Amino acid sequence: MTTSDHEIYLDHHATTPVDDRVVAEMQQYFTEEYGNPASKDNHAFGHTAHAEMETAREQVAKAIGARTGGEVVAKSIIFTSGATESDNFAIRGIADYAREEGLGSHLITSEIEHEAVLEPYKQLEQEGFDVTRVPVDEYGQVDPADVADAIRDETVLISIMAANNEIGTINPLEEIGNIAADHDDLWFHTDAVQAIGYVDIDVNEMGIDLMSISGHKIYGPKGIGALYADLSVKTKLKPLLVGGGHESGKRSGTPNVPGIVGLGKAIELAVQHREERVSHVRELRDHLWQRLSDELETVSLNGHPEERLPNNLNVSFPNVDVRELVRMSLSNQGVMAALGSACASGDGTSHVLEAITDDQDRIESAVRFGLGKDLTKEEIDYAADVIIEEVNLTESIFG
Ligand SMILES: *Cc1c(COP(=O)(O)O)cnc(C)c1O
Repeated sequence: MTTSDHEIYLDHHATTPVDDRVVAEMQQYFTEEYGNPASKDNHAFGHTAHAEMETAREQVAKAIGARTGGEVVAKSIIFTSGATESDNFAIRGIADYAREEGLGSHLITSEIEHEAVLEPYKQLEQEGFDVTRVPVDEYGQVDPADVADAIRDETVLISIMAANNEIGTINPLEEIGNIAADHDDLWFHTDAVQAIGYVDIDVNEMGIDLMSISGHKIYGPKGIGALYADLSVKTKLKPLLVGGGHESGKRSGTPNVPGIVGLGKAIELAVQHREERVSHVRELRDHLWQRLSDELETVSLNGHPEERLPNNLNVSFPNVDVRELVRMSLSNQGVMAALGSACASGDGTSHVLEAITDDQDRIESAVRFGLGKDLTKEEIDYAADVIIEEVNLTESIFG
């Protein structure tokens, strides 16, 4: 697609490159220490694979503050094939438990969740569960008071994302967690895929019972993720995948050891380097926004002006055919951006933007830029030059 020497990747919400240090850690578990962790008592390769998997479990638990009395609770981490599975597992796992135990059948979520949360909710609704989807404000933020108002005696699950993958808005997790904690047999799940590298998340302090994360959004490999489950709720979760009883019977299937090692390393690096990554991408993002807003009269910002991911810029270019802009004009010049959400496989309009505005032109002309740690100011300036030139060109054609 690219006919340019430039490769300016501004789509880090869709996926990120794997950090060289992560690749280096993973390497030997493909070709040298390739044992199955289930063979840990049989031979050295099995023993090593198991030990490395448990080290990664500690790394993940530590990174999200999964502790009791100062001790890291590694057992609260269940490895999965990615956040899509983690989201499905958390939601189904609670719903199936509630159904089996005759608990309530009411579930709460928001209007702006990822499809990996929205779809299992839809399925459960068809199976007889009652669902409340709390609205968001004009910036895409959930009001904890709306969550509190939605809770009934029958409510068993609240699933509200930590930060949105399209517009970057960060939700008040701790307030929602505190509300959930006041109720028995009510669990709080959050999809923290986009937030984890940029927001300091402490599952204990924030009252989070279940949390989904993914490797490939934090400079780790694709096809690996985890579900954090507080031990009191982990025992209750009904597994999605049954078989050999791996992951304490919660997720059968031979563990992806290289992927798990990579996830552990990636999340450790994300926490270690969080501050510098945050300030770097924020500076570049603010610079990009400054240039676009200075030089383009009609551009507008989508999402919260402050409480947003530091690497996210979602803007609308009214009267511009952004499909053409992103897929042809920018792409041909090596600037890689996204239309709304790259996760949505269809070409439909964004449910996130529809939740924050009625302005169809604003919805249909939205472009998402997702910045990353390895970008430079020069690259951002090149991207800004190209975007400004192309937007001006199409606007002049439209008159
Ligand atoms: C990417 C993403 C997912 C899906 O994660 P996979 O590991 O690709 O399955 C879920 N939720 C959010 C918010 C995401 O951005």
